[in-house]
Amino acid sequence: VTAAVVLGGGFAGVLAAAVLARHADEVVLAERGRYPQGPDLRAGLPQAHHNHVLVTAGARALDELLPGTTAELLARGAHRRGLPDGALILSAQGWFRRCETDAYLLACSRWLTDHVVRGRALAAGSVTVLEETRAVALTGDAHRVTGVLLRHRDGRTRALRADLVVDAAGRASQAPRWLAGLGAPAVDQEVVDPGLAYATRVYRAPADIAAAIPAVMIHPRFGGDRPALGATLFPIEGGRWIATLTGTRGCDPPDGPDGFASGVRALASPVMARLLDAAEPLGGVRMYRGTANRRRYFEHAALPDGFLALGDATVAVNPVHSHGMSVAALSALRLDVELARHGADPAALPKVQSALAEVADRSWRMATDQDRPLAVPPLSVPRRRAAPLSRHLLGSQPLMAELFRAQTLLPPSTNAETRAVLLRELARSPEPPLTDDAAVAQFPALAR
Ligand SMILES: Cc1cc2nc3c(=O)[nH]c(=O)nc-3n(C[C@H](O)[C@H](O)[C@H](O)COP(=O)(O)OP(=O)(O)OC[C@H]3O[C@@H](n4cnc5c(N)ncnc54)[C@H](O)[C@@H]3O)c2cc1C
Repeated sequence: VTAAVVLGGGFAGVLAAAVLARHADEVVLAERGRYPQGPDLRAGLPQAHHNHVLVTAGARALDELLPGTTAELLARGAHRRGLPDGALILSAQGWFRRCETDAYLLACSRWLTDHVVRGRALAAGSVTVLEETRAVALTGDAHRVTGVLLRHRDGRTRALRADLVVDAAGRASQAPRWLAGLGAPAVDQEVVDPGLAYATRVYRAPADIAAAIPAVMIHPRFGGDRPALGATLFPIEGGRWIATLTGTRGCDPPDGPDGFASGVRALASPVMARLLDAAEPLGGVRMYRGTANRRRYFEHAALPDGFLALGDATVAVNPVHSHGMSVAALSALRLDVELARHGADPAALPKVQSALAEVADRSWRMATDQDRPLAVPPLSVPRRRAAPLSRHLLGSQPLMAELFRAQTLLPPSTNAETRAVLLRELARSPEPPLTDDAAVAQFPALAR
């Protein structure tokens, strides 16, 4: 009998458990919190008060893992917005023109996403779910993890034997400390922290345009002597909008209703302020600061057999990239492939860890390249072209298609024909920039 235990039942944890149930005989999922009955708030997931969109590659991976998931999200009120066809985006270089590409995002509350994904992942009943049960240590030695020590909320502690122990405890994961406790080598960690903070408020949207607005993304105004605020506005289920202000070190988004409103008015475009003036706030402003890019190199350490980590426990990137859930879904898909290839064998997990690192690395590089001072846009072209490229990007369909493929974690186009087209696009003069009015007029719903 092969037994597996997953530590943490968030987004990555439930997907990992669903995958493990295909390969192991018994799967236990230990979650320190308690799940709500419906798509509601739950303690232990503070980031869920903030906008959480699923990008294309993650949405596709979810549907491959759990067919019908994105259709259910849409049926329950999520919104699909093409990038940049369904999005009003003001970048540092100007407004993007609308055009169709393969890339899109799905916008709804994190509560709804978790409810639907968890429901589908655990529907088969082949995973034993232990709620209010916290993992407190690993058991075994430096060569082999043999299980986990679990503590229930009522204080009872018990050891659970497992051949495969999968850590999916998110940013709060204590696995490096627990592994060190077994005498395993230290896990190197890298942190790239742009000091980003989020301030988010949910609104009841005016009924006539609630579901009709594009996704709105206002990048920080550059060129001044101080950092500036950026912002997003997404339609979510229930006729609501979720508005977020973001600021990096030296430009904290203001807290409180008045501060939030003044931050929205200070943005590089008045479009979001106008929309929110017509909407009714639901609840207060939520702040979030623990956003640093953090990578734990589990795959570099000579870890004991029987242990694996995935999700934010391994790679957590700056959330403005909207990658975390998608990386978790892509990792779960890869876990399925690797377990099918190697078998549910404790000795195979270090190899699986390296495969999962490959999946997460693209998001890590994209996020940290931008957050290190000499950032370049995430397009796979030579770095020296980065600055002029940005202006070309705003009006060229082939270049936008490639940019948004990268941002939504789709594989880059590799065929020679597409690359020749991209080079031709770069060689011609960029389209003239859109004025503020022309950019907004691209979306009839905003004219109302
Ligand atoms: C402000 C913000 C906005 C974001 N926006 C987006 C976005 O738009 N799109 C996107 O894709 N991603 C976004 N992310 C990232 C996303 O939240 C994470 O990538 C995602 O939640 C990772 O899933 P996870 O399961 O690894 O971790 P989590 O979802 O954090 O789950 C970890 C789980 O483990 C449990 N746990 C912790 N410790 C223990 C323990 N010792 N024992 C048992 N259980 C434990 C927790 O209770 C929790 O349920 C955002 C993040 C932040 C901070």
